[in-house]
Amino acid sequence: MAEVDYTAVWEKCLEIIKDNINTQSYQTWFEPIRPIRLEKNVLTIQVPSQFFYEWLEEHYVSLLRKTIRQTLGAEGRLEYSVIVENNFEEGKSYAVSFPTSSVEVNPKNPPVSMPVNISRAIPNPFVIPGLKKVSIDPQLNPAYTFENFVEGESNRMARSAAYAAAMKPGQTAFNPILIHSNSGLGKTHLVQAIGNQVKMNFPNKIVLYVNAEKFISQYVEAVKDKNITDFLNFYRLIDVLIVDDIHFLSDKEKTQDAFFHIFNELHQANKQIVLTSDIPPKDLKGFEERLISRFKWGLSAEILPPEYDTRMAILHVKMRKEGIELPQEVIEYIAHNITSNVRELEGALVSLLAQSTLNRKEIDLALARQMMKNFVRSVSKEVSIESIQKLVCDYLKIPIDQVKAKTRKREIVQARQIAMFFSKEMTKSSLKSIGMHFGGRDHSTVIHAVQTVNDLMVTDKEFKGHIEELKKRISMSTS
Ligand code: ADP
Ligand code: MG
Repeated sequence: MAEVDYTAVWEKCLEIIKDNINTQSYQTWFEPIRPIRLEKNVLTIQVPSQFFYEWLEEHYVSLLRKTIRQTLGAEGRLEYSVIVENNFEEGKSYAVSFPTSSVEVNPKNPPVSMPVNISRAIPNPFVIPGLKKVSIDPQLNPAYTFENFVEGESNRMARSAAYAAAMKPGQTAFNPILIHSNSGLGKTHLVQAIGNQVKMNFPNKIVLYVNAEKFISQYVEAVKDKNITDFLNFYRLIDVLIVDDIHFLSDKEKTQDAFFHIFNELHQANKQIVLTSDIPPKDLKGFEERLISRFKWGLSAEILPPEYDTRMAILHVKMRKEGIELPQEVIEYIAHNITSNVRELEGALVSLLAQSTLNRKEIDLALARQMMKNFVRSVSKEVSIESIQKLVCDYLKIPIDQVKAKTRKREIVQARQIAMFFSKEMTKSSLKSIGMHFGGRDHSTVIHAVQTVNDLMVTDKEFKGHIEELKKRISMSTS
């Protein structure tokens, strides 16, 4: 068949898929796929790894089935081709194609076995067996575990990727795994949980948690003392290397160089690398291109601000930890008023405890209201989606009916997204109900809007200023 056929068919599939899942899942699981041929109703797509293939089969099989049926008809089938990467010769990859037990395939087909990854057969010259016994303090805080990390829509993807990597360090497609989010949303907790979990399951693995700032100062020390070799040799011993807050490496060329070498050696030896950043990888400034491209090798997942239910669950976990109990209305009050940051959520709880002890007062709604004045600009009744729409449109000087209309003009789309963002952030409404208020859009549009606004706030200071101003106005409108 002509070349254009399979790409066009896949494009069509992507359109359907895009409408059915959120942007982040789409980008993670579908953008990396390449269509490679279409023969007799069998579309073959290339996926980056066996793990990737398994994930698709586990999570998206019915969506894929539906999509293939829609584009190729009832006879349509899908086959996968899995790339086996040769880590030693960069850029080269071997496509191994095999029929799989995929979408419309006969279930009697035997499961496929993974071709041996060539790089594993090559011994790593740096790991000298004797040295493995060296004990290295992993620098982990035992309180940060998966068990007390509350799962919610906002962190599900990051959490499950982290968990998969922790159970099979270095053996999944999530290498490196890069978790990014605004500050205070659980990155450090989650990556430390990986370390603790690995230590529990594989006590002999050498795990190291290091903040990028500390890594930089270690490197600077090493340069000063002329023992770069020791520095590098030390990092070569690590089986699971967790580097927190890599955005600190920005503009640190020499340190980036050293990190690049460590990264390559560990990755080649199938050691697990775990990274976090306050900034999405695509927006990192002051980084060498080759390092950015390494960051994109594995999986990057974002943690979004927790939704109401997750905030409630987090507060419950923290109360249990502190051994306290608060009236339900107080917890609800906090969860309603502190919306964008888990660290602040914890801070509010601690502050409430402190005030109650200092003033010898029962913790009740009145005390909570008083305390909250330090945390948020206003103590609010619930704001409505309508009033959010009105305030956003007034502020941006856009006719209010436009946010509910079909128009795709840029400034209208943006106003709509901002209003959706605040509706999610400041009301208890479900994604579905928010979508309904905006001319019957579906929940994925709302998720996309929230993500877009969050992304823009990170990259665009001016935009962020507008959002903060709007937030102030919306909060004030209710007090
Ligand atoms: P970041 O590294 O993204 O700035 P942290 O990991 O330091 O954020 O998280 C801030 C605080 O919030 C920590 O005390 C952490 O335990 C807590 N936290 C964040 N997310 C969760 C969650 N999903 N469940 C429980 N606690 C959380
Ligand atoms: Mg952190």
